[in-house]
Amino acid sequence: MLKYWQIFLSSFTDYGNYLLQEVLNPGWGNYFYWLIGLSLFFWLLEIVKPWRTHQAILRKGFWLDGFYMFFNFFLFSLIGFNAISNIGVEAFNDFLALFGVTNLVAFEVQSWPVWGQLLTLFFVRDFIQWNVHRLLHRSEFLWRFHKVHHSVQQMGFAAHLRFHWGETILYRTIEYIPLAMIGFGIQDFFLVHIFATSIGHFNHSNLHVPLGPLRYLFNNPQMHIWHHAKHMPHRYGANYGISLSVWDYLFGTVYMPEDGRDIALGFDDVAQYPESFVEQQLQPFLNNRSKGEPSRMGKEVKHLEKV
Ligand SMILES: [Zn+2]
Ligand SMILES: [Zn+2]
Repeated sequence: MLKYWQIFLSSFTDYGNYLLQEVLNPGWGNYFYWLIGLSLFFWLLEIVKPWRTHQAILRKGFWLDGFYMFFNFFLFSLIGFNAISNIGVEAFNDFLALFGVTNLVAFEVQSWPVWGQLLTLFFVRDFIQWNVHRLLHRSEFLWRFHKVHHSVQQMGFAAHLRFHWGETILYRTIEYIPLAMIGFGIQDFFLVHIFATSIGHFNHSNLHVPLGPLRYLFNNPQMHIWHHAKHMPHRYGANYGISLSVWDYLFGTVYMPEDGRDIALGFDDVAQYPESFVEQQLQPFLNNRSKGEPSRMGKEVKHLEKV
């Protein structure tokens, strides 16, 4: 037990020190400044050449989403997730050891060139996340958490990281075993993480960027806005892609019936959904049957249109 307690305590100090070092030492290998730089980059593009020209530069929810960015990228780890996940990993390994399993690695990719490992990691992780995202829409219980992300009514780059901390726990837990089974030799997933963050900012940005044939591979604002449509095209939604759109094309979950620039976003009673960070965090735990029960079921469209 003492071991777990020590892991718990050191997780806080380790992460605290790490975050302090990040803030104090700007550089190319630094998440904190990459997040700021990427955000400024997309914000600047939104100001210079917006898709919805009538949308305010400081759109509805801008500051809330700005706070979510730092909360979900850093603060949640600082206040608990890092400690909980370190203990979870240790406990899981101890549990496996009871059955004589000391090594989860089933596929050795360590001998591969680094670019091959990074690409594999990016694709495998994105496919897992596509499935988790579908699950968030399928399960009534999980949808309560995911509604935080869908409460965005005016879209912009910062909406990317508006999500409930419960999602972080779900994604990391489900990702853990499959990624642990692939024996990546690379310790630093920095590039993959920054690349995925850039695409996430891009998907949510108020920009119109025709990707040509690349749209069948990469998610983009013209596709992702339909994922946020107030009236979902289907009981459980469509366009679940995180970084890649290819999974939606492969599995027939694409929906882009027309230009989605000005469509209404959110869900039926989104106007009643709380707009403060604390209330949104509490919302999934409240018995809120009347408030925002999945109105996504309100409108059914029989066939998903393939584009
Ligand atoms: Zn969603
Ligand atoms: Zn989104």
